[in-house]
Amino acid sequence: MNKIEINELHFSKRKTISIIIDANGRLIVRAPYRTPQKVINDVVLQKQNWIIRKREEILNHKNEVKTVTFKEGDKVLYRGINCSLKYENNLKPPILLKNGSIIIDSQYVKYAPQLLEKWYKIEAFNYFNRKARHYANLMKVHFKRVKISNAQKRWGSCSSQKNINLSWRLIMAPDSVIDYVIVHELAHLIEMNHSQKFWAIVERQMPSFRKHKNWLDKNGHLLTTT
Ligand SMILES: [Zn+2]
Repeated sequence: MNKIEINELHFSKRKTISIIIDANGRLIVRAPYRTPQKVINDVVLQKQNWIIRKREEILNHKNEVKTVTFKEGDKVLYRGINCSLKYENNLKPPILLKNGSIIIDSQYVKYAPQLLEKWYKIEAFNYFNRKARHYANLMKVHFKRVKISNAQKRWGSCSSQKNINLSWRLIMAPDSVIDYVIVHELAHLIEMNHSQKFWAIVERQMPSFRKHKNWLDKNGHLLTTT
């Protein structure tokens, strides 16, 4: 009798049956189209000792490894908004923003911080690009491209090659603060310093810039995922 439960069974164009135990100790079987259930059960039965041993190994190891995980209901920042973290089954894509919540596929609980960071980087790239183009038009400057950096405190910089570098962590800040950093870096395309002339360019584009600059000086340390 086959007592081992198959947690996931996938049929595809493959030629052989494969059996794996995933990071959560779940048994995942992949088989060619039209493989009879009996054949699959027999293979699982034949390998049951291996499956039990492997599962124990993985689950024991899992307890040893201490990973940072987010709990359901934890708050994470996105564009200045405190979003609740939620987990849902069978989510596609595995992470998304819906009704003020950041929802993650429950099979990625263990990797939630990494998944969130990856998502932030993609969101940052798209959002910063859009905003940089918008402000570059208004300020009549040209930049080559927006690059996403991993900087912890240096929110933005501007290279002599006319690239704008922006830390992905900035995607956690309020929109007005993101705008300020982008305007600041674009102003460097005209004035490569922090002279009065430079600040006048920033102020012309964004009269309220001091408020956003102060916010960043005071709250920049909050823009972190750990
Ligand atoms: Zn500057």
